[in-house]
Amino acid sequence: MTMQGDAYLMCINPLCAMQYSITSTKVQCEKGHLLDVKYKKRPSDVLKEVFSQRRNPQGSIFNESGVWRFRELLNFCQIDTESIEECSKYLVSLDGAEGRQSKPYHMSKVAEFIGISNENLWLQPEGYNPSGSFKDNGMATAVTHAKMVGAKKIVCASTGNTSASAGMFAANEGIKCDVYIPAGQIAQGKLSQAYQFGAQIVEVDGNFDDALKQSLDDAQNHDGYTVNSINPFRIEGQKTIPFRALEYLNWEVPDWIVYPGGALGNTSSCGKALMELYEWGWIKKIPKIAVINSEGASTLCDLYNGKFEGEELRWNKGEPNTELISKYYNHLDKEGIKPKTKATAIQIGRPANILKGLRALDFTKGVVTTVSDREMLDAMSVVGLNGFDCEMASGASIAGIKKLMNEGIIKKDDIVVGILTGRQKDAMLPVEYHNNPENKFAKPPKN
Ligand SMILES: *Cc1c(COP(=O)(O)O)cnc(C)c1O
Ligand SMILES: [Zn+2]
Repeated sequence: MTMQGDAYLMCINPLCAMQYSITSTKVQCEKGHLLDVKYKKRPSDVLKEVFSQRRNPQGSIFNESGVWRFRELLNFCQIDTESIEECSKYLVSLDGAEGRQSKPYHMSKVAEFIGISNENLWLQPEGYNPSGSFKDNGMATAVTHAKMVGAKKIVCASTGNTSASAGMFAANEGIKCDVYIPAGQIAQGKLSQAYQFGAQIVEVDGNFDDALKQSLDDAQNHDGYTVNSINPFRIEGQKTIPFRALEYLNWEVPDWIVYPGGALGNTSSCGKALMELYEWGWIKKIPKIAVINSEGASTLCDLYNGKFEGEELRWNKGEPNTELISKYYNHLDKEGIKPKTKATAIQIGRPANILKGLRALDFTKGVVTTVSDREMLDAMSVVGLNGFDCEMASGASIAGIKKLMNEGIIKKDDIVVGILTGRQKDAMLPVEYHNNPENKFAKPPKN
């Protein structure tokens, strides 16, 4: 390995700033703050040309991979990135398939539905990843780190797609995988993938937040390696989602990047990607991030927009009012409020990456809003009319752009990139949608 000591882990709290070796499997510092992967070297933007040339993969799966094509910007293994031997030895890849199909597209019918000009709207489907969601971007890197530290078993809690992705990579690498799922609350198509890949399912009587708690305990007490998005190496791989969008736009920065908000791993990774690119001088402008919660699981929106106790929760230079967050969670518990939406991928009440999410919103002057289940279903359905597939939670990006435009927050001339996080794995949702003639895009069957 070259560049010894370039990469390390650091606590995100600037007052604490504890550092750890890159081979540490901690997901938080001693005081319970989340960690970042940090790099001492500043990558030169001549790499833009290298990345572009790799789109002709020349026989290397690491060039084919939409994640590892950008390997110099996530080189926590500290390998010689031009050496196929070193790449093959360290980097976990499903034959180059992770991120390979992902790039932004215009979708005219979606643009019309939103009321934005077709040229100004880009949508990036991440559902064509090998396990069917954006999670593969981060799982390739997390499992790379798991392998680097010699982990024998990876562990996660999941609303479905994380377990599908973890199961797939674990099977491919020949390591064990335990997945904790909230019983009865995940799409059948996702559950069946976890079984298919031979993962050990652990059913938790509770919601995702309960499942996460159990899986973290299991990882700690039984030598498991956590691959949820609180794992900082997940965040590294997911940086390539905005990398691919920006590259496709010739590194001309859009005005907005829009994500559904669940555990806020995606939001965090987009923020980190933009912070790094800006610091390195690769981009001069910073796009705003918009996070779209479901109305039924709106923790970030409530806290960010001052809907709880009137205080707008902010990153506040690394000193966010964490007491407000605890109070909010206590309030949910006391009132028996459970996250509830048909978009199970974002049915999360306690977003584990909330502090990194706040940092991303602070850096980009971002916004947070909510959309209803009906709005997400319409959005999901209009994507289909353009010949693309996405799941209900991904519809939040589109419904959110529509709402923010109606409110005048996204302007008519703004360039907007929306991330479509996963493909349809809830087979009956479109069937039910189209059999109800009251739905906006319904095409009921004839008999
Ligand atoms: C995991 C997931 C989300 C939520 O992403 P976070 O990073 O947890 O905010 C949204 N959509 C789909 C399809 C997902 O699988
Ligand atoms: Zn700390």
